[in-house]
Amino acid sequence: MVGIVIVSHSKQLALGVRELAAQMVQGQVSIAVAAGIEDSENPLGTNPIQVYEAIASVFSDDGVLVLMDLGSALLSAEMAIEFLPEAQQQKVHLCEAPLVEGAIAAVVAAAAGRNIHQVIAEARGALLAKATQLGVVSRALSIVTPTTHVESESPTREIRLIVSNRLGLHARPAAQFVATAAQFKSQIRVQNLTRNTELVRGDSINQVTTLGVRQGHELVITATGSDADEALASLQALFANNFGEDNAALNYPLAFHHAVTSATPGELLGIAASGGIAIAPVVNYQPTHISIPQYHVDDVEAEWQRVQAAIHVARQEIQAVFSQVSVQIGDAEAAIFDAQLLFLEDPVLLEGAKERILEHHLNAEAAWQAVVDEVITSYHRLEDSYLQERVDDVVDVGQRVLRLLAGNAPANLHLQEAAILVATDLTPSDTARLDPTKVLGICTTSGSATSHSAIIARTLGIPAVLGVDAQVLQLANGTLMALDGESGKAWIEPESHILDLLTAKQSAWQTTQQQARATAHQPAITRDGQQVSVFANIGSINDAQVAVANGAEGVGLLRTEFLYLDRTSTPTEEEQLAVYQAIAQVLDHRPLIIRTLDVGGDKPLPYLRVGLREANPFLGWRGIRFCLDHPELFKTQLRAILRASIGHQIKIMLPMIATVSEVRAAKVILGQVQAELNQAGIAFDAAIKVGIMVEVPSAVAIADRLAAEVDFFSIGTNDLSQYVMASDRTNPRVANLVDALHPAVLRMVQQTVQAGHAAGISVGLCGELAADILATPILLGLGLDELSLNPQSIPAIKQAIARLSRVESEAIVASALQQDSAVHVRELISTSVTPPA
Ligand code: PEP
Ligand code: MG
Repeated sequence: MVGIVIVSHSKQLALGVRELAAQMVQGQVSIAVAAGIEDSENPLGTNPIQVYEAIASVFSDDGVLVLMDLGSALLSAEMAIEFLPEAQQQKVHLCEAPLVEGAIAAVVAAAAGRNIHQVIAEARGALLAKATQLGVVSRALSIVTPTTHVESESPTREIRLIVSNRLGLHARPAAQFVATAAQFKSQIRVQNLTRNTELVRGDSINQVTTLGVRQGHELVITATGSDADEALASLQALFANNFGEDNAALNYPLAFHHAVTSATPGELLGIAASGGIAIAPVVNYQPTHISIPQYHVDDVEAEWQRVQAAIHVARQEIQAVFSQVSVQIGDAEAAIFDAQLLFLEDPVLLEGAKERILEHHLNAEAAWQAVVDEVITSYHRLEDSYLQERVDDVVDVGQRVLRLLAGNAPANLHLQEAAILVATDLTPSDTARLDPTKVLGICTTSGSATSHSAIIARTLGIPAVLGVDAQVLQLANGTLMALDGESGKAWIEPESHILDLLTAKQSAWQTTQQQARATAHQPAITRDGQQVSVFANIGSINDAQVAVANGAEGVGLLRTEFLYLDRTSTPTEEEQLAVYQAIAQVLDHRPLIIRTLDVGGDKPLPYLRVGLREANPFLGWRGIRFCLDHPELFKTQLRAILRASIGHQIKIMLPMIATVSEVRAAKVILGQVQAELNQAGIAFDAAIKVGIMVEVPSAVAIADRLAAEVDFFSIGTNDLSQYVMASDRTNPRVANLVDALHPAVLRMVQQTVQAGHAAGISVGLCGELAADILATPILLGLGLDELSLNPQSIPAIKQAIARLSRVESEAIVASALQQDSAVHVRELISTSVTPPA
């Protein structure tokens, strides 16, 4: 008989639900409880070990259904599944059904001897009975598919245009196009005349992408509806603005060829996707197969609700990947996941799945897979290989929803020992979760050098050879492998002479890398002798190593959120101390600015903010606001930073400062922590410097007052731009407005620099703008003392500084501040900077 587990933050709640459910079936069903934590002062919480024990206590081959309340309960349950032997994992299903109604429906079904899938279906449909009784069935089940309303008798307008951005409608521009089209009531359609395609829906990311639009193609865009003119004007503006892209600076490689022609015995040939040599034992990764049953359903509304629930959870999961990638890898890579979110809103996918369920009575898994397969086929039909590769994202999103529908746990890619990961393929979200200190190389049997997974592998610095013979999938874990990500070759159990060659090549590769970076280790000095500090933005110990190797003179922003991600409770003081010390050691006396926790906004961390729903998270309880309201959490972090400060150049930076009183309140808490450490005889740097992020417009307006309170400023243009321009930085619909080169933002930067310098404090800038090579003359001309950016971009920015002069840059700034738009500022810079001699 199927067993049931109830996971809740509250022991009382869970016991109550168990009592109620058990009463329904006179105790015939095994129901286990995992609830609350062993902390008498704060007993609310969940513990993965408890969940694991509860599952084990009711486990049988018939399966186990786990019902959870919310937030960390889900994370604990997911972790608990990872502790189970693999064979048992398949039989344990996490279910999104409501706790009380779901538990009762599930035990009744289990007692009736139903199988696990029927029990899950009963639990999921549990709200239906309640909704029917309350007469709200139609509302409760109303399907919120975005459909395009076409007003009858509205005129159709049409524009034709030639695409000028370098990669055409690749992932990000396609996402902007769709997001813009979806804002209007009019129905937008688009056709690629050059490729003679059909006219497709402009609000479908998949249809737009599969038009195969590249630079130079002619498009016709039609709009039917009352706001047709406005819609076309907005879309035209996107094209005129090149979708905010600098055609010269795209970091997507157009082609990546492998340099070898034939394989010698023992060698495997593949695609060179990410440079470097790896020699290590293999770990063969085989994702859990998701079986897709196909059957007839009677209750079609409940079935469609299952799809919507899975999409809802998928959206939350992708948002979490987005946060992690933006903290640990970079905003450009994070944008891949922003675009993935659009797939979940694609009306073609949603309407296709809904139709199969409502009209053909197909079950959710089969309906979803069928529409995803159709989209995949249309991508494969494209002639353009670059656009064909965007299919990875469709597969990634499609699989995620299927996994959720099947109730499976996410794949576990955490390696215990350093290894080369061998797999059929890795999705972009799998690759983003890899730890480069453990995954020394990637070897897959499919994939391409321009796939999003390959782009992420390159950013992470993991050598990769893709598209090798499928025999590698038969390798036992632990088999020695060597791979060369530059030539696209791999060797299974290489002979000693190959190993010698590769080891020599590895050190030669490292030397070449070092030489390429040699100039990056010089200070960045302009032609007229002005020095600017170039620091790194980091989010892990590995980033610190990459930063030093790339010539970072220090760390201008350590995003400490990474310590809080991917876990179910806050890191302890000792855990934090160990990481801060490790990073400080890697930096070897270079300055390290540690930003205190900036939770909220685009970094949600559900277990810290259980049940919190905010209409405007970016305007909500984030950064310093959250920390001041949680003094114990804040103090733990400050204690760890202070303890790490001894013997290192550590500074503290407070995020999201909007008022003087926030700075003062934070300093009072810091003073308390310092007093406690003194009392306990624990050493720390008593002269530790405290600075703030200037990223809220109010902070700019009162920068003179704030400057009197702190030791330094660092301008966060990512947030400052979104707040100045009133445009959510994660919303592709307004992406063209959030350009930090807009004169409105630049004037704010200027005001901040002037206020900081008048008070004699240093002013840095750590938003993405610092890594934009086109912006370098502007930042120099504005007088910033320090730029902090992603480690990979440091060599190029240092070179750019060396080519410029401060005087010339000041002249460009004077003119830039008078422009009307960011586009004009970009044009101005392109035409003003003297090309290198
Ligand atoms: C910023 O806002 O510019 C910044 C650097 O911080 P984050 O991107 O972490 O919000
Ligand atoms: Mg910020």
